[in-house]
Amino acid sequence: MNSIRPILGCNSNYDDANVIVFGAPYDSTTSFRPGTRFASSAIRSDSWGLETYSPYLDKDLNQLKVHDAGDLEFPFANSNKMLEIISNFTSRIIKDEKLPLMIGGEHLVTYGPVKAISDKYSNLKILHFDAHSDLRDSFFGEKLSHATVMKRCFDLVGDNSIYQFGIRSGSKEEFEWSKGRVYTELFDTSSLDEVLKTLKDYPVYLTIDLDVLDPSVFPGTGTPEPGGISFNNLLSCVHKMDKVNIVGCDINELSPHYDSSGVSTAVASKIFRELLLSL
Ligand code: MN
Ligand code: MN
Repeated sequence: MNSIRPILGCNSNYDDANVIVFGAPYDSTTSFRPGTRFASSAIRSDSWGLETYSPYLDKDLNQLKVHDAGDLEFPFANSNKMLEIISNFTSRIIKDEKLPLMIGGEHLVTYGPVKAISDKYSNLKILHFDAHSDLRDSFFGEKLSHATVMKRCFDLVGDNSIYQFGIRSGSKEEFEWSKGRVYTELFDTSSLDEVLKTLKDYPVYLTIDLDVLDPSVFPGTGTPEPGGISFNNLLSCVHKMDKVNIVGCDINELSPHYDSSGVSTAVASKIFRELLLSL
């Protein structure tokens, strides 16, 4: 870990904190445009453009105890090793009875915390916001890819444990395979309230691939997919996360350099703040 200026409002030390934030700057399997390795450092610097106070929730980050552990360090192009490092770090956090909140990185990084957390909770459910279903069994021959990550998570949690929202892209095979196995809300999030009711007695992992947002509000991502949800729509979903028992979460796929305006990083930072305040 490097010594760093923490993300806005994440000033607690490790021992005092309830939530541990860390970056997972890995983008070696990105299929189209790489750059998500820069997301956590961009959020770390640009989050300071936001207020710590949320008028939506009438809460302030200064009321929370959040530690920013910095970025994990990975070897290049070694997905197995990268996932092992994330999984081990997550295991330590949950053993210390704290909540892990990871900033990707490409979406493959999500397998790391899901592995560690599903080892602890055999009945883990996953809420997944994304433009892409990420349910391919392999991609260009690779089992570990940002296009296969939810299939790998499925291998851990099994049937009827993954709930996807905002999905609007995938292969015909993925959509057919997922029927009866993975809950899929196409295009929007309209059934979220009902799903949250059914999940209220389960431990839940939340993964937000920010490309669920429409590229008009979030162009800074590797595989932009038109037809996405609005910022306010995603914000209202995030605000509902206090209705379930979130045991770990991540946001991923911000690729700041594709948006020279910096708006995408501002969007990610604000979603991150509201997520922290909703947990
Ligand atoms: Mn994804
Ligand atoms: Mn995606």
